[in-house]
Amino acid sequence: MTQQRFLLHEHELPTHWYNIIADMTNPPPPYLHPATLQPLSPEDLAPIFPAELIRQEGSSERWIEIPDEVRHLLQMWRPTPLCRALRWEKALDTPARIYYKWEGASPPGSHKPNTAVAQCYYARKEGLRGFATETGAGQWGSALCFAAQFFGLECRVFMVTSSYHQKPYRRVAMETWGGSVVPSPSSMTQAGRAILARDPETSGSLGMAISEAIEYAVTHEGFKYSLGSVVNFVLLHQTVIGLEAQKQLEMAGDYPDIVIACAGGGSNAAGLMFPFLKEKLNGSRPNLRALFVESTACPSMTRGLYAYDWGDTAKTGPVAKMRTVGHGFVPAPVHAGGLRYHGMAPSICTLLEQGFAEARAYQQNGCFDVAVGFARAEGLIVAPETAHALRAAYDEALACRESGESKVILLNASGHGHFDLAAYDSYLQGALPDHDLEEDQIRRALLELPTVAG
Ligand SMILES: *Cc1c(COP(=O)(O)O)cnc(C)c1O
Repeated sequence: MTQQRFLLHEHELPTHWYNIIADMTNPPPPYLHPATLQPLSPEDLAPIFPAELIRQEGSSERWIEIPDEVRHLLQMWRPTPLCRALRWEKALDTPARIYYKWEGASPPGSHKPNTAVAQCYYARKEGLRGFATETGAGQWGSALCFAAQFFGLECRVFMVTSSYHQKPYRRVAMETWGGSVVPSPSSMTQAGRAILARDPETSGSLGMAISEAIEYAVTHEGFKYSLGSVVNFVLLHQTVIGLEAQKQLEMAGDYPDIVIACAGGGSNAAGLMFPFLKEKLNGSRPNLRALFVESTACPSMTRGLYAYDWGDTAKTGPVAKMRTVGHGFVPAPVHAGGLRYHGMAPSICTLLEQGFAEARAYQQNGCFDVAVGFARAEGLIVAPETAHALRAAYDEALACRESGESKVILLNASGHGHFDLAAYDSYLQGALPDHDLEEDQIRRALLELPTVAG
């Protein structure tokens, strides 16, 4: 019988993270200061991030050692399984061989603790008291609260108001792991008070919550700010996913023709794909396809502009060159909350610009169609974000059925959907809307981009 699970031993967890910047001939251009729009120095970032993470952000070392204590904590759930989707392949009647890496196996239920654990380790090493952060639907906040307690760190989470009220269970998970959660915008920060004064009924946004978390961090002794996606060091920490998958596919005797993942800020996608893209960058696997999948509600990669933009609404964080739909863009309230960020990791955008990777966007109903089929074939109920990756894999598998090719498809199953059952409920009742995005809405948001010389 064909093998369906490829498992590694605890000691096979990678010992080093892979830094793709080392292998890029044209790495992403530097970040700019949010006020002066001049290149940002490491000193500018010092009040915001732990020093070791700033060092990793700018590092061009190819391999960076994972501290033993971090590895030991990751071993609570890693290495994660690589599974062959045999029953789904059969249901789709495709000759393609489909593999998925199961990141829903972590205690908070997604890939996010891979970086949360590392960030908390460096924060404690630096003697910090705690982290402030933002969360949308609650995935990142729960990953950071989960990790913080192992290091005796406090965790202050600014949770987008609409999610705070609509998704109480993620908040309860964060509080169970010892975090403190406030709805954002809040009256705890100047940024929050200013927004509330203008619009007391606002439903909040990720951009606003980031502004509050940064302000909280820089105004509270012993606190720094933690970010769950987009920047190099986060993507770096996620590469354990792809490094494990490489060993596991070797066990299966296969190599991917196409790697697929959903991308909000790009961290789970980079985590899976960067170790494989290494071989495309160095020319040894020129035909490998890397497919990043986003939501049509927030189409930074497929309809955005490649330009410098602020990472947050209040323009307090670094300015990065990326594909963006504008920092003021407010996406429709699709259930894939993790795919509602206006920008994308600069390193991924560089790869897209240089033709090493491709991007595609889907409406949510088409993704839930496929996620429900996947649940019935493979048993797993995936997060709405993950459903976007499944949708792309499904389309590729059907293309193989048409052409008769038995390609190898590898996708990242970034998280489970056990906190997202209200979304499945709407879908099953036929009450889930698809949103058409007018070009004008993007054009308006793009008018607010900074003017950068050169
Ligand atoms: C947060 C999240 C995402 C999107 O974030 P990336 O940084 O793009 O990976 C995707 N899937 C799940 C399950 C998430 O929690």
